[in-house]
Amino acid sequence: MNKIEIKKSFFKKLGIKSEYFLEEINCDICGNNKKKDFLKKITLSKDKLIEFPYSMCLGCGHLFQKYKFEKQFYKNFYLKYYRNITHNSTKIEPSFFQDQINRGKILYNSLNGILPSSGTMLDVGCSSGGTMVPFIKKNWKCYGNDPDKNYVEYGKSKKLNIDYLSSENMTFKKNFFDLILILGSLEHCYDINKVMSKCSKYSKDKSIIVLEGRGRPKSEAKKFFNFNHHRIFTHNSFELLLLKHGWMPLFSTFKNLSGPTRPNTIFTVGIKNDLLNKKYFQNIIRNGKKDDYTTLKETYLKLNKG
Ligand SMILES: [Zn+2]
Repeated sequence: MNKIEIKKSFFKKLGIKSEYFLEEINCDICGNNKKKDFLKKITLSKDKLIEFPYSMCLGCGHLFQKYKFEKQFYKNFYLKYYRNITHNSTKIEPSFFQDQINRGKILYNSLNGILPSSGTMLDVGCSSGGTMVPFIKKNWKCYGNDPDKNYVEYGKSKKLNIDYLSSENMTFKKNFFDLILILGSLEHCYDINKVMSKCSKYSKDKSIIVLEGRGRPKSEAKKFFNFNHHRIFTHNSFELLLLKHGWMPLFSTFKNLSGPTRPNTIFTVGIKNDLLNKKYFQNIIRNGKKDDYTTLKETYLKLNKG
């Protein structure tokens, strides 16, 4: 199917009548326009498949959705259509919030030795913000934001400092944070470069960043490649994204730094280095820091069979 057919078939499935603009995009990490199709069909919800191809960038090996709608589309999609497809409840369960607190506690301990004893922290896409609670108990000043109103309201009722907004629209002072957490929200972000350059501006030199993504190729590939994930990260693409925006990767791991309740995620931890520049980022890709098409494709094909 070509771009127009993809859009038609997708809108028919959802009953969307309005006109939205769909465009083919370049790699959102290295900007390269050379790409190769990776998967044609992805999941819209549990069992619904749609034709909405994923590409791999031939420059850096990043995996991303080949086409993108304008921003307003996604806003309306989540407001009007998404819950009808997934039948997800809008009610926040206390057990969800408690799990966030537990994960925050384990993450705090995992970062022992690289964090100052207290400081200022930002949780980007924090949902209800429970992850911040153990940090607050250790005298950290914590800020969070999330685009889902129900989660934000729940967190606010727990006296947490959360802004209801998309992280592209956040504003803070320059050189403000000692720690930034982005736990599983970059896949959903409309413009990761806007978010990362803001995070970079608001971070102090030598501050820490923690990225978590759904990139562990262990469970069904179908669940990774869904419409809500504009991209799928690997350790390589996480590290490149950090290097591009001014952090030196400290380590990447398959070990779950926030405990066992969200399995199959990957982590990359970095330290801000104000000396890093874009030239270094481009150089390191030219020198071979990239994911390999055949290796990733075989991994995902195997998973899809199982
Ligand atoms: Zn790329």
